[in-house]
Amino acid sequence: MNYLNEEQVRRNISSKKRIVIKVGTSSLTYVNGKPNLRFFNSLACQIMDLQNRGYEVVLVSSGAIAIGMPLLGFEIKPNNLPQKQACAAVGQGTLMHLYERFFHEYGGKVAQLLLTKGDALNPKRYLHASTTLDALLALGAVPIVNENDAVSADEIKVGDNDTLSAVVASICDADLLIILSDIDGLYDKNPSLHLDAKFISYVPEFSRAFLTMAGDAGTARGTGGMATKLKAAEICVRSGIDMIIANSHLPDVLMNLIDGEPIGTLFLAENVHPQMKKRKIIIGSTIKGKLYIDAGCKNAIVSNGSSLLPAGIVKVEGDFQEGDSVSVFYENEEIARGITYYDSQDIQLICGCHTEKLTAVLGYEKTYDTVIHRNNLMVIK
Ligand code: ADP
Repeated sequence: MNYLNEEQVRRNISSKKRIVIKVGTSSLTYVNGKPNLRFFNSLACQIMDLQNRGYEVVLVSSGAIAIGMPLLGFEIKPNNLPQKQACAAVGQGTLMHLYERFFHEYGGKVAQLLLTKGDALNPKRYLHASTTLDALLALGAVPIVNENDAVSADEIKVGDNDTLSAVVASICDADLLIILSDIDGLYDKNPSLHLDAKFISYVPEFSRAFLTMAGDAGTARGTGGMATKLKAAEICVRSGIDMIIANSHLPDVLMNLIDGEPIGTLFLAENVHPQMKKRKIIIGSTIKGKLYIDAGCKNAIVSNGSSLLPAGIVKVEGDFQEGDSVSVFYENEEIARGITYYDSQDIQLICGCHTEKLTAVLGYEKTYDTVIHRNNLMVIK
């Protein structure tokens, strides 16, 4: 297989539009758990500068537990879950307050989004998360995502935010994930244990063999170490998203990465067809119902990649909820699958209806013009 060489791929990075950036606890805090304010400042400045250059940025930030610890009098990370969750609950507020202040300084507005893995696995919640992220980005906000550690017991797990950042990249259909850490990137073995570890700057083809190179976190504040970063790389490349691991403390690291400088380890995305990106969400879930559409609607979906509007639906089968996966049929042929914004009862009411009549027919203020937005629709014909 002929892969693009590293220089070609790096040169291309500046043409990306939507970027997810993940920062780890070891970058955001000092050993004593206090926030590294200069780092917060530089991160906010660079992200706002990227936004000023026209990029859309989502930040996935760890750090809540570490920042909450000294506030609650802990010198070392507590072992028991309720105490960790208490630290997360206190620390998350402080973390957002810090981000708000620094981003505000550079003209930015930040939005807090607390997600759990369930938001990625449950189609309805996935749909909501992706719609919210789209809306925030369209409104010029910087979504700051963290796991909802304070309430989700399963989620306080080693390194979850690396995986979460890859999931967020996939939810918001990002072009690039940058994981900023306290290390330059991937080495062929753990560099904190092996002096002869060799740096890997480019991974044109991800293989599971890389997972054996990964050791644990470098610091007590770090969480997943390289293992969870490689898990994130696997999710990204298989979802068609390039990923870079780089050292958060390099000056202007984000700007230089976007300008194509050879920094960090770059994982090249697989060549994934856009429909395949959606396939994972849509095919992965059980089909709960069928929507039959007319010829005009079929043509719009298949030939023009349009969304599915109520006006094109002629019949509904099955009992399903908003967020369920449904099949789209033209006569006896399945032509698409997607995630519906309306439940089956509402679609019974609005099928054949033009957009301007939706509110009157539904009897409440309609939320969506489309029954299935094209981003959540996979044509399978
Ligand atoms: P963060 O808090 O930024 O997520 P972590 O401490 O969890 O950071 O992970 C980064 C650490 O992983 C590095 O500092 C390093 O000590 C360790 N590590 C283990 N194996 C490797 C490897 N093969 N290459 C690079 N770093 C590795």
